[in-house]
Amino acid sequence: MSRYRLYPTPVQAAGLLAQCGHARYVWNLALEQWSMWRHDKGPAPSSVEQARQLTEARAAFGWLSGGSQTVQQQALRDFDQARRSYYAGSHRRPKWRKAGRNEGFRIVGPQAGRVEQVSRTWARVLVPKVGWVRFRVSRALPDARSYRVTHDSVGRWHIAFAATRDPIPAPGNGEIVGVDRGVTVSAALSTGELLTCRGLSESEQRRLGNLQRRLARAQPGSNRRRRVKAAIAKLHARAADRRKDWVEKTSTDLARRFDMIRVENLRVAQMTKRPKPKPDPAKPGSYLPNRRRAKAGLNRGILASGWSLLVRRLEDKAAGRVQKINPAYTSQTCSRCGHCAPGNRENQAFRCQSCGHSDHADVNAAINIAAGRAVTARRDKPVRMSVKREPQLTTSA
Ligand SMILES: [Zn+2]
Repeated sequence: MSRYRLYPTPVQAAGLLAQCGHARYVWNLALEQWSMWRHDKGPAPSSVEQARQLTEARAAFGWLSGGSQTVQQQALRDFDQARRSYYAGSHRRPKWRKAGRNEGFRIVGPQAGRVEQVSRTWARVLVPKVGWVRFRVSRALPDARSYRVTHDSVGRWHIAFAATRDPIPAPGNGEIVGVDRGVTVSAALSTGELLTCRGLSESEQRRLGNLQRRLARAQPGSNRRRRVKAAIAKLHARAADRRKDWVEKTSTDLARRFDMIRVENLRVAQMTKRPKPKPDPAKPGSYLPNRRRAKAGLNRGILASGWSLLVRRLEDKAAGRVQKINPAYTSQTCSRCGHCAPGNRENQAFRCQSCGHSDHADVNAAINIAAGRAVTARRDKPVRMSVKREPQLTTSA
């Protein structure tokens, strides 16, 4: 993915924003249809059926037909993909697109190829119904099959080209790395490296908290409220930029250095799900701590989404060289002797109760992941790897 800053003229910006509105409208319409669908009412409308309905809607509503059909149809296809990813368990449930927050549209196919370099620093792209829009060339233009135009909450326009997958050749050294999503670090490698994705700093987080409290007190519709909202959006955008940057650097680095990359197969939906309340058996009606506060932490959420992005980019860059490992017990199992017990782990330190091996807990887990260790639910017994049966792996395409 290569992202560039897009500089539309005010007239073009209005045109782009209208297209964003169309894409959002179509997406939300498809989402509404899907959420209202019940099993007893027959099959949910297929994407073909939805495309036919879109043609009808365009005929009925003048403002929709004024926009680009390509953009609107693509929004339907994107929704279809989101729905399928949700059923496959790799993504969360598709959400409502909100005006001013998730503004964007996608162009796929030959139309995405209408890009010209104008000078050393400028290029332009022919956006349907809007015309040639300039963007700043901050790095070499990729040979793209699709692009996405986005308008962020701070008011910046970007164009992101999805390169036709930009695989990085394997180094051919036979080396395998395990990557564990750490608790205190963003990722731990089986090589012992601890990687940190910089989220918001302490002071930025404090400032965000202040702004959010101020927002709660501001009059609806007031100028003050608008200013506070813009300041909050700016902080979120800063965190997102840092996260994207980290993901690109880290995924390139890993794809260059290792032949095989093994990651834990985490379900993002489970990771970010609200933890269940734990009733206190001693006191009926009251509850034990369930780490909900810890889970709700802002940086935690940011890191969680950084992780799924990292895995996605790894699968692009190291296509066919990424394996997802079932992470069960990887944090409790000794990477040296295979002894598996909850007592092996004390916070960030791993100390094997059987052989005395000690390591950073996340690094120990990463080594288990690198080994593709089939960790079983039977504790206390060392895990034996069968020669014939491979551990549970799901190889990415
Ligand atoms: Zn041990």
